[in-house]
Amino acid sequence: MVTIRISSLVKRFGDVVALDHLDLDIAAGELFFLLGPSGSGKTTLLRAIAGLHLPDAGTIHFDEDDVTRLPPHRRETGMMFQSYALWPHLNVFRNVAFGLEERRVPKTEIRRRVDEALAMVKMDGLGARRVHELSGGQQQRVALARALVIRPRCLLLDEPLSNLDSKLRVEMRAEIRRICKEFGLTAVYVTHDQKEALSMADRMAVLDAGKIVQTGTPVDLYRRPRSAFVSSFVGETNLIEGTIATVSGDEYSIHTETGDLSARLAAPDWKPAPGDLVILSIRPECLSLHVDPPAENAITGRLIESVYLGETAQYSLKCEERETPLHISELNPHRVIRDTETRFHATAKPEDIVILKS
Ligand code: ATP
Repeated sequence: MVTIRISSLVKRFGDVVALDHLDLDIAAGELFFLLGPSGSGKTTLLRAIAGLHLPDAGTIHFDEDDVTRLPPHRRETGMMFQSYALWPHLNVFRNVAFGLEERRVPKTEIRRRVDEALAMVKMDGLGARRVHELSGGQQQRVALARALVIRPRCLLLDEPLSNLDSKLRVEMRAEIRRICKEFGLTAVYVTHDQKEALSMADRMAVLDAGKIVQTGTPVDLYRRPRSAFVSSFVGETNLIEGTIATVSGDEYSIHTETGDLSARLAAPDWKPAPGDLVILSIRPECLSLHVDPPAENAITGRLIESVYLGETAQYSLKCEERETPLHISELNPHRVIRDTETRFHATAKPEDIVILKS
């Protein structure tokens, strides 16, 4: 178990600043996710932690050890990258044993540790199998065993499940989390899949242009984003511009193009004042549709799209005052409304509307 401390890390590729004075602390035993748009620096950061990229400035510490200039094999990190394919001509045992053979570990010790690593990923007894005789999920388990067998100080994962079908992906999410927690591993995990991050992470960071824009638990980032960027990147949301009209305790009234709305939740570390320009973030599942106008927070329009998905019904409500339709997601729908003539009112509770800096 190791803490990872990254201080003011800079990595440039020619004119591109891939990491821009990035600071990050990851606690021992934490399963930490990196999220962000394509090109925001996630893989560069992971590779810098692994020692595969030498930074231009800044430091990386594992506990008290400065590993910034240490070559990859001396950092004792276990890696599971999407492109890190298994060797098809070797059996499962030899694939997993490879890292230990390289380190000249005695044969009896190799056998014991490979068996132990295969048991960790629930592949015991399958050491003699050829790689091509394994399912996609089993191959990923072998790749994970290969990363674990060296008893890494930390585990680095870059889109490890992206080649799997959705059912296997969900199964492997739980497996990876179980293994990390059972063995107290510090793990850093890069993904494009927000559900993967939300369901697995202890904490996560959102990157943009080589910087971290917010870190927190999945609930923090989903419920209390600090910016419109984070709120629309983690999950889906509706963004509505407005101006703070009145503030009374933690009750805010906001003028918007679709009418006045009341909200109770401001972004962390911020107290908006009357006259401030703001952006409201309302998640689709926080909105509900009504025929009769609700007492407060009514946004009125006509339905331009209705999609029934079984567990949810998804609606697009077009308001006259605004170009972008409002997205509404109804959970456990008993029917789907396809009426495009009636004026419907969407409403959200004040505690479900997040006020963000404009
Ligand atoms: P993705 O989600 O698409 O994998 P990412 O967030 O992992 O993206 P990085 O791969 O870290 O982003 O890239 C960050 C920036 O650095 C991008 O602008 C990318 O083009 C650039 N970059 C990364 N590796 C190299 C390289 N070896 N040579 C030149 N530029 C690079």
